[in-house]
Amino acid sequence: MNTIDRRRLLGMLGLGAGAALFAPLHAALAQVPRNLLANPTFERDPFQLGVASGEPAPDGFVLWTRLAPHPLEQGGGMVMQPMAVRWELAEDESFARVIRGGDVLARPELAHSVHVEVEGLAPGRPYWYRFQIGGAVSQVGRTATLPAAGARVDRVRFAVAGCQHYEEGYFTAWRRIAEEPIDFVFHYGDYIYEYGDGGAGERMLNGRPFTNLRRHAGGEIYSLDDYRRRHAQYRSDADLQAAHAAAPWFVSFDDHEIDNNWAAAIDQDGTPPELFLLRRAAGLQAYYEHMPLRRSSLPTPQGHMQMFRRAAWGDLLQAHFLDTRQYRSDQLNNGRDGDFGEAGLDPARTMLGARQEAWLHDGLRPDDGRRWHVLAHQVGMANLAMRRDGEIIYSSDQWSGYMSARRRLLGHIEEAGMTNVVTVCGDAHRHFASDLMQDEGDGKVISSEFLATSVSSGSDGTGESDEFHHNTRALNPHLKAMTDKRGYVLCDVGRDHWRGDLKVLDRVTVPGEPVRTHAGFVVEHGRPGLQSA
Ligand code: FE
Ligand code: CA
Repeated sequence: MNTIDRRRLLGMLGLGAGAALFAPLHAALAQVPRNLLANPTFERDPFQLGVASGEPAPDGFVLWTRLAPHPLEQGGGMVMQPMAVRWELAEDESFARVIRGGDVLARPELAHSVHVEVEGLAPGRPYWYRFQIGGAVSQVGRTATLPAAGARVDRVRFAVAGCQHYEEGYFTAWRRIAEEPIDFVFHYGDYIYEYGDGGAGERMLNGRPFTNLRRHAGGEIYSLDDYRRRHAQYRSDADLQAAHAAAPWFVSFDDHEIDNNWAAAIDQDGTPPELFLLRRAAGLQAYYEHMPLRRSSLPTPQGHMQMFRRAAWGDLLQAHFLDTRQYRSDQLNNGRDGDFGEAGLDPARTMLGARQEAWLHDGLRPDDGRRWHVLAHQVGMANLAMRRDGEIIYSSDQWSGYMSARRRLLGHIEEAGMTNVVTVCGDAHRHFASDLMQDEGDGKVISSEFLATSVSSGSDGTGESDEFHHNTRALNPHLKAMTDKRGYVLCDVGRDHWRGDLKVLDRVTVPGEPVRTHAGFVVEHGRPGLQSA
């Protein structure tokens, strides 16, 4: 210790007298780093990226923030030294009853993000949190623990959203989600888009001329700094920050957090896998840094993140969060949609990888005492037939490009006698509410799917009048509703009924648009399939 008084520092880090009130520091932080910056000061607010919480359990959750006084500058405008951030957890919104707190190190290795894993709290109740450093105080976030394991729970509400292209629309859907009385948010992916600045001029978007509302900083992103800067730009959005501050989230990444339509070690451009993996590692590190994830999801030096996991809301709902990117087989047909025939049925093809698939089947048991199971994943399972130039084609990136894996999963659900499984996902930039059956449909409904439209990707939708809409509705009787308006899915889960609402905003090209319900469906417990609400 050169310039710093050790005793004062230990006190500051919660290790000295008075530390009893505070949670023990994470083992890795128990040692004061030699290069600690003891008295940081900031010319601008270091909390401009907001706060977040996630991964709730019955006894705790993760609290997140990142110090970045200049979010778009290299290093977020931070001094490249570790420094201590104070966190506080209260039982009330005004912080009259602070029950936990401590100091956590924000390190340059992780872009001065912090992930506090709080434990030992009471189940099934809300908490409020905030951070402080150098005289600056963050906004206040609200979060909650899950109900106690096995407790009787009568109702859980959550939002499903993702696909938030910054240039193509305002994130008003996130503001509306922040206003919903929900227990949690599931983000299915496409949190950022990797594309470069789309320019100031008119461009074509979904066959219509479009001018960017906002612009990506810089070109297509490859390096860790690029990915950090893109996350910082998105996270500067006040509507997105409001949704993070309103409820705990469970996040999952899809393709655009790294690169369009990537699959395991393979990108869409034919890049050598050993090079793509370097880019993937950079993208996943930045993703970890910006999300309220547990340390168990910290990327390995090889660039792998552990993302499939479960959470339960007492005896009401068991959620299985899936990872359909890191372990999947490469897309058929070079990633182009098509009619894959026998190739799609190759049993060697996988969407989840053998280990995750076994883990999922193991967790999908009818005797586990939960009223409902939800598969929270990324891309559609509905196997929608689409018409293109007189030809019938299927998505190569969704489960329809992985029919053997789809058969195994739906087959397991059916054979296990599980009539209480609902799936939620996104990626298609349209709402799709569907019954799930094997293959092209044999009349036996196995599960039900709410696929959420985008928050902003694709900009304002046209609604239900385009040719794609007419063709797709006509070809797929198991598809019960669709629209390309932007928005999110709201699920209201009760003991006997699961209600899913397709929420839409008529415009994302203007801020502050109200939300309305395009369509609502109910799934009856024990009877798979969507019924009009
Ligand atoms: Fe997307
Ligand atoms: Ca996607």
